[in-house]
Order: sequence, then C-alpha cells, then structure tokens
Amino acid sequence: MSRLEMLYKAVVLDHSSSPNNHGKLPNPTIEETIHNPTCGDTVLVQLFVEDGKIKDLRFDGQGCAISQASASVMTEVLKGQDLDHARELIEDYNRLITGHEPQFQDELGEALAFQGVANFPSRIRCAQLSWKATETGLDKLQDKEEE
Ligand code: ZN
Repeated sequence: MSRLEMLYKAVVLDHSSSPNNHGKLPNPTIEETIHNPTCGDTVLVQLFVEDGKIKDLRFDGQGCAISQASASVMTEVLKGQDLDHARELIEDYNRLITGHEPQFQDELGEALAFQGVANFPSRIRCAQLSWKATETGLDKLQDKEEE
C-alpha cells in the first residue's frame, strides 16, 4: 500500500468514526440534501452564512464511511471561509479527487488525503457528495440574493 493510500484510509477511518460538525444547526441560512444512488449515501448540509462568510456548517445523513468522512473534513475546510473562496476550495477539491494537482494545498489540509480516492473511481461520487451539496446550497443562496 502506498503512503497516500495509508493516509487516505486513516483519515476515512478517523473522520467516519468520530465526525466533526455532525448534526443540525438551529438556524441554517440554507440547506441542501443530496443523494448518491450508486452507493445509497444521503447527506444533508446546512450552512449559516453571515457577512459573506460561512460562519458555521453541519452535516447529517447516512452513508458509507467515505461519504461521512469527506463531509466531516469538508466542514473543517470550509468553516469561516468567505463564499467566493469556499467555491474555489470546492473546485480545488474536485480537481484533487479526480487526480489533478490542487492549488490550495495548505487550506485543504486533511482533505488532501482524498486524493487516494482517485484509485477507487467508483467511490469518487461518495467523496464528492457533501461538497456538491454545499456548492448547490451556495448557488441557491446567490439566486435568492439576486432576486
Ligand atoms: Zn458511498
């Protein structure tokens, strides 16, 4: 097993057994539920947005260890980020898990371990689910503000 695969397995195990920011927010600004039919994962992401920043976010739902762990890691990466940069980080993460070099390595932190998912193409959707939910939530929020 390569070093990356070992790191990937360790991060997935760690975050799926004791996830961060798991549960529900009392006052979400926006929320989005997304389902991955291939694996049966469902993830709800809630964002509390204020002053153009993601002040808080949580996830809930059920699914495989990869979907849960990637959601937990995502909450750590995106908490406190301003909305534009959050989008850049989501894009960067998508680049990473499809085998490309990310731009914001320091900020992705533990999410970098998900580069290991590129070796398991059937699990890429699991690793993308919560990030996609956040992106969709941010899109909806933007539409709302432009009305
Ligand atoms: Zn899954």
